[in-house]
Amino acid sequence: MNQAVVQRLLQRGDLLFAEGDAGHEAYLIESGAIEIFVDRDNGQRVLARLGADDLFGELALLGEQTRSAGARAVEVTRLTVITRDTLGEQLDRASPLLRHLLRVTLARYRDNLRLVGGADGSAPIASPHTSTSALRGNADHDLTIRHLRVERDVAEAMRRDELELFYQPIVRLDSGSIIGFEALARWRRADGTLVPPNDFIWVVEDSTLIFEFGRWALKQAARDLRVLQLAYHPSQVDDDALFCSVNLSVRQFGDPELVPVIQAAIDANGLQAGQLRLEITESAVLNNLRAALDLIDRCRALGCRIVVDDFGTGYSALWYLHRLPVDGLKLDRSFLKDSTGSDRGLRIVRAIGRLAADLEMYAVAEGIETPEQAALCHDIGLHFGQGFFFGKAVPLQEAIALLQRQSK
Ligand code: C2E
Ligand code: CA
Ligand code: CA
Repeated sequence: MNQAVVQRLLQRGDLLFAEGDAGHEAYLIESGAIEIFVDRDNGQRVLARLGADDLFGELALLGEQTRSAGARAVEVTRLTVITRDTLGEQLDRASPLLRHLLRVTLARYRDNLRLVGGADGSAPIASPHTSTSALRGNADHDLTIRHLRVERDVAEAMRRDELELFYQPIVRLDSGSIIGFEALARWRRADGTLVPPNDFIWVVEDSTLIFEFGRWALKQAARDLRVLQLAYHPSQVDDDALFCSVNLSVRQFGDPELVPVIQAAIDANGLQAGQLRLEITESAVLNNLRAALDLIDRCRALGCRIVVDDFGTGYSALWYLHRLPVDGLKLDRSFLKDSTGSDRGLRIVRAIGRLAADLEMYAVAEGIETPEQAALCHDIGLHFGQGFFFGKAVPLQEAIALLQRQSK
């Protein structure tokens, strides 16, 4: 982990920083209260009293700054420290104009502080201008704070090895036999609760954590695939050796280490490259065509297969299927949901199945929950399926047990 997540506990009266100190960090108040104050000839002036969910000290994140006011705890206070390291890379990547606008905005906010704490010797003032309290309840502000906390927690979870990959079987629709697995991330909190990826992946994808997370997932999936391959009896499974699908998010397209990591993971575990399949969503491909194409080319040069995930949800422009060298499609489960009730949905599934067959692509129907849906997909010519009917995503040991049961 390269991003230290720091919390700080202050006792009542503790000074966090004084006016004129060099500042390198901003803070989020988790609990307690902080007073922002300035020393003037006629004594100390309190500019603001901040409480839980308030952010302060943020000018320091934009570069070397001296503090324009002091800060101290007025009760026992817990802070999350936001360092330049946490935000530095994102800020450095921001355009100069954006950085400048941020600086101007924050400077204006600081000037507000000075004005409110003016020289007239009046009583301490806590003005809405002086604190982010005024922003509370504002959707953007609340989302930012939630984001910050999830990011902090996920970084911590990665450091503590609390992330795991679960495996959901992908089966042949004619025999029901397992031909591979999709690796799906889970976060097992210290108290044992499992957090599904939809609750944290969006934050990981929005931050630089995604590089580290993505590399971890690929390495872990390759190691686990080897274990799975060794655990099952190939004679019972009539296809090539078992494969594993790993999800790639669009931000990983920019990871210079991605392809070397994949290569190393394949080599280290004695896999054939084709046994590692990379799932990229249709919208990620369509919105980032150049980067997607570049990545797809490099991964295929290694021998990995590329599968378009959530096929049909990206306002499909079918032209890309013949332009992009992809090996397969995963038909989004929304079609299947519609297909049982509506003739139209069914026809779409059938047409996509035919399209994939004509293009000699591997096609998987996702989200098969009932035997009727499984039979239907098979009847209309799809060969592979995935869904709760065949099995949910399970920890590695349970996936091994599934294979062993199958090979009996
Ligand atoms: P996805 O790639 O489309 O994965 C399929 C999701 O559908 C999984 O949810 C799976 O548990 C769920 N699912 C499978 N069969 C059924 C079914 O029959 N019915 C229903 N209702 N759902 C089914 P999960 O594991 O919660 O993952 C959600 C999403 O999180 C994934 O969608 C994927 O976009 C993302 N994700 C998961 N793991 C990773 C990862 O390692 N890296 C990246 N970048 N994204 C991941
Ligand atoms: Ca997927
Ligand atoms: Ca999917």
